[in-house]
Formats: sequence, structure tokens, C-alpha cells
Amino acid sequence: MRLLADLVLVNGRFEPGRAVEIADGRITGVTPFPPAWGDAAFADDLVRLPGRALLPGTVNAHCHTFQSLLRGLGDDMDFMSWRDRVLYPFSTRLDREGIYVGAAFAFAEMLLHGATTCVDFFYLQDAGNDNARAVIQAARDVGIRLVLARAMYDWEGAPARYRETPADAARRVTELIRAHAGDPLITVQPAPHSLHGASSAMIRAGWEVAEAADTRFHIHVAEGQYEGRQTLKEHGATPIRLLDRLGVLGPRMIGVHCVWLDDEELALMGARGAGLAYCPSSNMVLGDGITRITEMQGLGIRIGLGTDGGCTNNRLSVFEEMRMAALLQKVRHLDGTRLPAEDAFRMGTADGSALLGLDAGEIAPGRAADLVAVDLGHPSLHPRANLLKSVVYAMSPQAVTDAWVHGRAAVRGGRLVTLDQDGLLARVRALTHDWRVA
Ligand SMILES: [Zn+2]
Repeated sequence: MRLLADLVLVNGRFEPGRAVEIADGRITGVTPFPPAWGDAAFADDLVRLPGRALLPGTVNAHCHTFQSLLRGLGDDMDFMSWRDRVLYPFSTRLDREGIYVGAAFAFAEMLLHGATTCVDFFYLQDAGNDNARAVIQAARDVGIRLVLARAMYDWEGAPARYRETPADAARRVTELIRAHAGDPLITVQPAPHSLHGASSAMIRAGWEVAEAADTRFHIHVAEGQYEGRQTLKEHGATPIRLLDRLGVLGPRMIGVHCVWLDDEELALMGARGAGLAYCPSSNMVLGDGITRITEMQGLGIRIGLGTDGGCTNNRLSVFEEMRMAALLQKVRHLDGTRLPAEDAFRMGTADGSALLGLDAGEIAPGRAADLVAVDLGHPSLHPRANLLKSVVYAMSPQAVTDAWVHGRAAVRGGRLVTLDQDGLLARVRALTHDWRVA
């Protein structure tokens, strides 16, 4: 297959007259067009996309897909009320079909908004892997690339269905990793929940699984200020120092949020090679604070962008997170030059992909064929002084018209082509129509 759009983003620049060649789920070439191919220019495998620009699909480095069903229920709450009045009670209502519907719904919205890879940090385990398999099936059906961050949770205050012993959790994650080794679309990585949701033994178990299977591992870190106070009181160390003391702070670690870290903790993350999945909108919705992104960039910390779940961020779009990431650093420093659009775009594409250990996020030979097309006729992309900056700062989610994952079309003309979009929304409505917060 060859995709022919008006413009293609190559090496950070939009180039005209390029065809993107795709075979077996990979980009095999980005070649001048019209070439000296003669009649080949009209061959069957050519997909013409007039009035469109092709970009790498975005990479959502952190989400909880079932939370899309809870959208709107936690609006205008602080973290503790959101957790105790919305997350815990409603997450215990979902059966396996509900988990599937929530995941499919979240994946669908993300794809329509241009995300071709998603991390689902998944913790409704019910002492097994069947629920996680339902999420994996949803990803296959909708056609998104999935990193299933299979959570490991043992804090006794959380609902029973989240909890396992470290040994059980480690065995089950390992099982799931093995079952999907070599799967081009599904990657499984361990995810000890956090320093408040997982014991030291559980965190060590997650790290050991990652070491043995040679994967990344995910963990929420210092989302709220309270966590640092708590770890200091209980363990005599703030979050990153504690993770270092546990021996897990290293290049495998993807810390989620990392809002409340001191200078020494940032330096420690940089020195150990740990990465960050940054969720600016979610951090704003819950009033968490602003992660020190520019300092982390300066220390060489790898940074990807995440939407987080649909009830701590009402819009699942990585393009939106690029915009928020950039604007927040400008206002934090009172300096409009901070975190330019190009940096934010890389975080939401190539850097996020590298953070997860994938090879998507860029239109280049050898990369995964995960692409999106945007409508150059959309008002939000006019006038066109600098298209890449407009994609980050101005573009409406509706400007995304098409998405391909591993070379397979998932969205055409702003509609899902992999499954019945209206039918999916009907299932979401049927499941949630009488949900009210007590
Ligand atoms: Zn999260």
C-alpha cells in the first residue's frame, strides 16, 4: 500500500510530493511522488488522500480505559472524593462485558482523535487475567496498538477486585507477557500501582518481572503532595528516593505524573535513566500541580504524554496533551518561549513510543505503520503560518480524518471502520444510563 497525501511530516518538516509505502505493518519507504514510475502511479495499491496531511499517529502513554464509562461523574471533585465517591464504587460495578465496552469505547475515541497506541494501566483483575484479556480483545476489535500495563495492587483500602498477593500478581503478569511475546500489536508490561497502592514487596515483584522479561514497568509516582508526606512518614524517604532504595529506579521504570519531586529526586531520575509518562490535563482536573517538565528535559529524562482515564480528563486526545504540556510550562515560568510545540509534539509521538520500548511515532522506513491524516481544509488549520505548531496549538480533534495502525485502516473519513461506532455508543448508554454519584 502507498499513501499519497498533500503533505507528509518527515524529519520534523511537512514535505509535499512524498508517498508513504507500507508493507506488513511497517513503513518501507517515503519516496518522491510523482516518481518515474509511469503507469505504476495509478496502481491499485495507491491510496490518494487529497487535501490531507499525514502525521505519525500519537502515543498515549497513560490511560485507564474503563474510566471512560465514568466520564463526567467526578467533575469538580478533589482526588480523595473522586477516588472514594466515583472510582471505587463504580469500578466495582463493571462485569467483564462492561470492561470490554469501556475499553472499546476509550480506544475508539482515542483513534478518532489520532492516537494509534494506548497504554491501558489496568487494575480490575478479579484475581486473574480474564478481564485483561477482554481489554486486549477490545484493542484488537477496535484496531489500536495496545500496551497493557497490567497493574499489581495490594493496598488493603482498595476494592477487593484490584488486589492480589505479590506472588500471584507476578505469576499472572508473567503469564500474560509470555502469551503475547512476538504479538505485533499487543505488548504486556508489569505495573505495580504506586507507592500508596502497592507494598514494597509488590513493587519489587513488578520490577523483577520486568527484569526477567526484559520490559518496561509502570508506576504512579507523586501525583499528589500527600504521597511524599506518607512515604516519608512510613519509610523515611520521599517517593523517588524510596524507589531508588528499593532498587527499582532505572531505565525500565516509567513513572506516571511525578508532580511533587524535589531537585535531588529529579536528578536521581535523570542519573538512573528513569522515564516519565506525563498527564497534564489530568493533573489540572484533579488540582494536582504542574510537573517540572523543562527541568526534566534538561536532565535528559525521557518523557511521553498520557491522557489518563476519561473521568480525570474528559477528552482523550494526545494532541490536546501536547498543547496543555506546552502551555503549562510557559505559565509556570512566566515565559512564552518554554516548551515549544515541536518538543511537545515529539513527546506525544516518537519520544512516547521510545519510552514504551516501541518503534512507532515517526514516519520513517522501518517504523511501525501507525499514521493519521488531518484535513488541511479544516478551519482550525487556517491560516497555515506553521503547520506543526498549528497541529499542537490550534487543531480541533475533528480535523483528524483517518488513522492506520500497523498498516490497517481503523478510521476513515472521521468514522471507525473496524466496528460499528453507533452500536458501541448504544452499548455505552445502556450500561451507564442510570449511574449517579451518591
Ligand atoms: Zn493513572
